[in-house]
Amino acid sequence: MKDTFKHKGLRQQLVATIKNKGITNEAVLNAIGKIPRHLFMDSGFLDYAYKDMAFPIAADQTISQPYTVAFQTELLQVKKEDKILEIGTGSGYQTAVLCELGAKVYSIERQQELFKKTNIFLPKLGYRAKKLIFGDGYKGLKEEAPFDGIIVTAGAPFVPKPLLSQLKIGGRLVIPVGEDVQIMTLFIRKDTKEFEQHEFGEFRFVPLLEDKN
Ligand code: SAH
Repeated sequence: MKDTFKHKGLRQQLVATIKNKGITNEAVLNAIGKIPRHLFMDSGFLDYAYKDMAFPIAADQTISQPYTVAFQTELLQVKKEDKILEIGTGSGYQTAVLCELGAKVYSIERQQELFKKTNIFLPKLGYRAKKLIFGDGYKGLKEEAPFDGIIVTAGAPFVPKPLLSQLKIGGRLVIPVGEDVQIMTLFIRKDTKEFEQHEFGEFRFVPLLEDKN
């Protein structure tokens, strides 16, 4: 698992690219600049690791586009020690970004193959999520709720109720909602029953599927 000066240089170019696209949060930019994204992809795709593109990983899934990861993370407004739930661990790249920001991360993945792979891989890189879970993200993670933030990294055909109910008051849910195309949506919990909703344009994700595989 090598991280060379060449990789570091390419990473700085990637940071410049996403900055140009409008990402301003310094902590998020630092995390993208630090995390060796090429190690989260199969070695054959090394040349693509620092392009601002999504890319195939195992089990027909994708590692999200760096800009999208940064955009969602920025909306989440993570503070150190925040308790964050991620739905869709996948390669673990987004999980690593959250760890870099000092969050206590819980992450759920429904593909066993990816869950197993990432569960071994992330600690090797020094990223220790509080817990990686093999399960169905539609249900959230009741036993660890409430969360300061919840981030969904797959396209949700609708907003799962448990995710809203597992937010702290003041907590934020960042979720791409839609079937073929998704609208990036932010919910802020104002009160037990009251949520503020904001929309941030179109994105494309692999679908949030029900149940484990
Ligand atoms: N955050 C990941 C993105 C992976 S793509 C990364 O940075 O690499 C989305 C992931 O969501 C896939 O791994 C997919 O298997 C997973 N997923 C889809 N439906 C899910 C569900 N109901 N619960 C948990 N994970 C789910």
